Amino acid sequence: MHSFAYRNGSMHCEDVNLADIAGAVGTPVFVYSRKTIMDDLAELQQALAPLDAHVAYAVKACSNKAILHMMAQRGVGFDIVSGGELWRIINAGGDPSVCTYAGVGKTEQEIRYALEQNIYCFNCESENELREINRIAGEMGVKAPVAVRVNPHVDAHTHKYITTGTNENKFGVDITRIEELYAIIAAEMPHLHIRGLQMHIGSQLTELEPFVKAIRKVSPIALKFKELYGIEFWSIGGGIGIVYDGCLASGKQEWWDAHPEQLTLRKFAEAIIPLLQPLGLKILLEPGRRLVGNAACLLTTCLYVKKGEAKNFKIIDAGMNDIIRPALYEGYHEIWPVKEHREQSIVADIVGPICESGDFQAQNREIADVKPGEVLAEMSAGAYGFSMASTYNSRPLAAEVLVDGNKWHIIRRRQTLEQMVADECLPE
Ligand SMILES: *Cc1c(COP(=O)(O)O)cnc(C)c1O
Repeated sequence: MHSFAYRNGSMHCEDVNLADIAGAVGTPVFVYSRKTIMDDLAELQQALAPLDAHVAYAVKACSNKAILHMMAQRGVGFDIVSGGELWRIINAGGDPSVCTYAGVGKTEQEIRYALEQNIYCFNCESENELREINRIAGEMGVKAPVAVRVNPHVDAHTHKYITTGTNENKFGVDITRIEELYAIIAAEMPHLHIRGLQMHIGSQLTELEPFVKAIRKVSPIALKFKELYGIEFWSIGGGIGIVYDGCLASGKQEWWDAHPEQLTLRKFAEAIIPLLQPLGLKILLEPGRRLVGNAACLLTTCLYVKKGEAKNFKIIDAGMNDIIRPALYEGYHEIWPVKEHREQSIVADIVGPICESGDFQAQNREIADVKPGEVLAEMSAGAYGFSMASTYNSRPLAAEVLVDGNKWHIIRRRQTLEQMVADECLPE
């Protein structure tokens, strides 16, 4: 459960008034709650205690060094998707030997780097890639630990851009071909060590059923691979969803009591434990969004209000460069004024300053009738928020702040204009 709530008419993160952070750091700024991240992580680890389960946090959801550092201190492993993310983990004090490396397009340079750093396993997505890793490992005189991502053909019931477990997308190897492929690895790729099996069916899953279906479907294969190749782990991926619509209210237990259909970590664990326990394998989980999504908001200031022919607009100082989810996959974020409003709300579009019609954070939304200068909190902004930010329209990257009790710390300084252009140069 997250730690954002109104107190005495002003929204707080833990014991810090968000107005104070906006005043000191300016906007836009991402504000993370340390307590929220640590509590949810502990809840997940405890709920999974009956299994030999290990959390491999999906770094791409939010890769700030301070966040990675605090996770590493709690014994978390990491699921990475690039050499850059591996470098970040090491830089943040994390241990490469608990890193799994996913992704369809690993380069030779990245593979070499990961082998040098002794990562736990490459989660591979094609026969081509396996052959390339085999070749490189052979040249380096090492054995590369590998698993293959199996695509189980299970519909995750999520947005089409973030579903990954059906046979129409680029991820994984078809379940009908996976046994044949493992046999090929064992027979033809002497520089690979088959360490595990992996799957990941999509992101922002809000139902148990797709997880259960996929685990049921792949379990016999995992068992078979344990016997044939001695695999030691099965990673069941990430994808556990968070609360977007209802976010603020979900900071209170009453909301969860009133919404028994919501997927909780406990329900997730209770459903999968009986299916996985009999396998006798180490189980990896790769949650990204679930560990950080509801743990942050984006503070933004209302710059202007505008009444168009057909619509009201609230123009804010955060754009799709700061948080692209609404433009990219119809992501929904609640938006609340930091200073609580009690009067009648209005219906408006909340739009950014970027020169794109897709640059909105909310459309036709019932929202407080905020005035220019007021600070707003865009909720559920911790996952795929800053990590997807860009400097489009020459807007420097936002700042990031970590709240811890009644203290707060800058964990990323706002980018300066000089830094934004520092790597650009004129032709000789
Ligand atoms: C993105 C990704 C995850 C994390 O997904 P979430 O929905 O953020 O939990 C886990 N595993 C793989 C392979 C991924 O690509």
